[in-house]
Amino acid sequence: MSRRALIAGNWKMFKTGTEAVTTATRLVELASEVVNTDIMIAPTFLSLPLVSQAVAGSNVKVGAQNLFYENEGAYTGEVSAAMVKAAGADYAIIGHSERRQYFGETDETVCKKIAATLKAGLIPVLCIGETGAQRDGEKTFSVLDKQVSNGLKSFDSDALQPLVIAYEPVWAIGTGKTATPEQVAQVHEYIRKLVNDKFGNTLAMSIRILYGGSVKPGNVSEIMKINDVDGALVGGASLDADTFIKIIRYK
Ligand code: PGA
Repeated sequence: MSRRALIAGNWKMFKTGTEAVTTATRLVELASEVVNTDIMIAPTFLSLPLVSQAVAGSNVKVGAQNLFYENEGAYTGEVSAAMVKAAGADYAIIGHSERRQYFGETDETVCKKIAATLKAGLIPVLCIGETGAQRDGEKTFSVLDKQVSNGLKSFDSDALQPLVIAYEPVWAIGTGKTATPEQVAQVHEYIRKLVNDKFGNTLAMSIRILYGGSVKPGNVSEIMKINDVDGALVGGASLDADTFIKIIRYK
């Protein structure tokens, strides 16, 4: 089965509303001829409605970087999946390693957020990945197994049909280090097998598995050639539209 590539930009805590709109507008211009690849950018919550308006009607889609799992209520400082959807987003990144590392995100909260994301009609991009110490301790596969098993606990395969998984080795994020093609191939194959064992062959064959961690114009084509890699989740190199378009046009 051929899976449509997805190139996603995670803007993290960068750009004011005005800056986000400028970059998004430029990206829409540059990406107008791209046909075989899905494109997503994830600005801050504050910029979501502005960026959604700026890309409306184009092939550039918008995602949130996070959300809270309750629909509404007395949860000071939080934003729900329904609010993200109403702001014009189509995707939500869930369980990014920076949220796990700095904001106490656990597989249990990730699981609730995936449920809320799906319920709101958003496409969840579930981020998983091992730290450098876990890789050195040969725990990579057990860490990924736990993140997938617990993060996706209690869903059936039909419910997970829109799901995207992003493999982001924590030691490769923002460090300029990328996993070797062999490491990426091994892990992506393992993740697809995990999905197959837990949710069956149909989901395993259709699910898109992205690689993330220091993806750049200079390494993207090599990464995209690897078996079982269906796209990229890009941080730093997505902040500039003229750089990001080179990643989107990886072929
Ligand atoms: P990076 O970030 O491309 O800057 O390494 C990737 C990510 O955190 O999603």
